[in-house]
Amino acid sequence: MLVVMTVTLTAVLAALSLLFLGLESWRPAIRGQKHLRRGWRTDVIYWFIVSTIGKWFARAIVLLGIALLGILATQSLDRDAIKAWAMRDTPLQRQPWALQAFEILVLTDFVGYWSHRMFHAWPPAWRFHAIHHSSTEVDWLSAVRLHPINDAVSNVLTAAAFVLVGFDAKTLAFAVPFFTLYAIALHANLDWSVGPLRYVVASPVYHRWHHTTEEEGLDKNFAGLFPAYDLIFGTAYLPKGQQPRKFGISGEPVPDSFWGQLIYPFRPAARATLAPPPSE
Ligand SMILES: [Zn+2]
Ligand SMILES: [Zn+2]
Repeated sequence: MLVVMTVTLTAVLAALSLLFLGLESWRPAIRGQKHLRRGWRTDVIYWFIVSTIGKWFARAIVLLGIALLGILATQSLDRDAIKAWAMRDTPLQRQPWALQAFEILVLTDFVGYWSHRMFHAWPPAWRFHAIHHSSTEVDWLSAVRLHPINDAVSNVLTAAAFVLVGFDAKTLAFAVPFFTLYAIALHANLDWSVGPLRYVVASPVYHRWHHTTEEEGLDKNFAGLFPAYDLIFGTAYLPKGQQPRKFGISGEPVPDSFWGQLIYPFRPAARATLAPPPSE
């Protein structure tokens, strides 16, 4: 099983490398940015660890979260009653699949928007999310640099929303890979802002502004798919014809190594020195 998974992940990584090597050479947002830039080895480790052990960890946390919700909803510790509640048939699940898929994207991005804002605004959470923002050269591969606790918390909040409104939690199996692949494209070193659709769907330029250290882009563009959320809640920033030039975080630098990054949020030094970005 592990061998098959490793071979599959290697093949997908190779295919994505080829695709983005071509695209980022063709339409770079930052000209001259190296493909093998600082931290690429760390991000390759994330690719393998986050997609295997990280996903199992996230799945365990999601199941635990659903079980806790089930206990609250059924007011019992009966396993079958909790399972029946979590898998209850609801009118939402009887809609046409295409409508359900769209609603799932809308709901996932809504929860993602607010959990993302929480990760920026609440200092203990920011220490974990800072790892994602530590890349100083943002490209497609930097999308996978996500602390496993950041990933697990985002997933459990989304799963909780699914179960509460009445979607089958199994539909997460559709939403999570979609958003992961979409996030890879969003971080790419591409100058695409998708023209007339720039405020309809998030683009690489849109999300790259979220990663900038330039003041005008701080605490902006939290949405991962629909900029409508940033427009509604006042956090959209997409100046026409401009690109962010500087990326990363201010304050104490995050270590470059994978293990250094994993333990970084727990270190007292991080607590004392890693300040969240200034809020609006
Ligand atoms: Zn962020
Ligand atoms: Zn990002």
